[in-house]
Amino acid sequence: MDSKIAAPQKKVAVTGAGGFIGHHLVNALKKKGHWVRGIDIKNPEFTKSEADEFWFADLRNKDMALKLLTEMDEVYALAADVGGVGHLSRWNYEIIKNNLEIDTNTIEAVLKSKGKKILYTSSACVYPLYKQKTNNPLPLKEEDAMPADPEGAYGWEKLTAEQILEHASRDHGLQIRIARFQNVYGPEETFEGGREKVVGALCRKIAIAKEGESIEVWGDGLQKRSFCYVDDCVISLIELMESSYSKPLNVSIDKTITINNLTKLIIKSSGKKLKIKNISGPEGVRGRMPDVSMRKKVLKYIPKTSIQKGLNNVYLWVESEINRGK
Ligand code: NAD
Repeated sequence: MDSKIAAPQKKVAVTGAGGFIGHHLVNALKKKGHWVRGIDIKNPEFTKSEADEFWFADLRNKDMALKLLTEMDEVYALAADVGGVGHLSRWNYEIIKNNLEIDTNTIEAVLKSKGKKILYTSSACVYPLYKQKTNNPLPLKEEDAMPADPEGAYGWEKLTAEQILEHASRDHGLQIRIARFQNVYGPEETFEGGREKVVGALCRKIAIAKEGESIEVWGDGLQKRSFCYVDDCVISLIELMESSYSKPLNVSIDKTITINNLTKLIIKSSGKKLKIKNISGPEGVRGRMPDVSMRKKVLKYIPKTSIQKGLNNVYLWVESEINRGK
């Protein structure tokens, strides 16, 4: 028998396929030989989707979710009304309402689907605020999410969706995978328009700054976060889907950096001489660090991209996009 026979091609849907991570995920799934249906209310911003089919559909509409998801073997659920800390702290009502509609419609459709299998992208915002009050908090284990005190409406939405998934799994046999991300970054992330996250926003500010100018950073810049490069993220997602692990899993990196030091690394990539000016603005929790010991047990893949290399890639990409638009 030929041991090199390829695994059978699956019919896979990616919701949020026009977004940053969804777009990279579609490309990675295509490289693995799957048939992919992308779904979003918008196209990817910078390069064309490689999905076999790309549907413009609003998943707050249940009929649309049923129409597009029921024939699938697997569904990667990434669609969400989301953005950086500025967007998340300003639009709490819209975020919880829109996202719970997307989540419940998606889960209901996957329950009725051929494969009954869903990977949901959750967030480190589910972790309780009371565990993140210092700059050097203890690493957050998956079980630390309870007792609940998540961050804002977005954190409540993600935690609620996790609960709905766990009930659908227990009561109706839905096969679930839950990835908790924290600050995924990379080329083709949004860097302007109000939904940009910290890396995209800093790259833009630094790319347009003139020699000697100051870069504004929200808060005192001592808040700490961990960052996961998008290629490492999507490979981990595919491996998690293929695993048999059905509890929430931190798909992130166990190293943190202060926002001021992150800014300094991007300034270094720019080759410019710039200063940092810390100003008041939404800054989220003081410190957040995932515990990744369970990820190391569940997934064989070890993230490979150093923060210096990853930030350099994003900076050069943002700079070239800005120069192209001039
Ligand atoms: P993104 O905003 O780039 O992608 C989300 C996509 O969902 C967008 O293209 C958007 O148009 C689409 N969408 C929004 N409303 C929709 C609707 N009603 N119907 C269909 N599509 C809709 O965000 P991202 O950074 O790629 O994040 C992907 C997922 O990962 C999200 O669920 C997000 O909450 C989660 N996440 C991301 C990070 C991160 O650092 N990027 C961190 C934690 C969790």
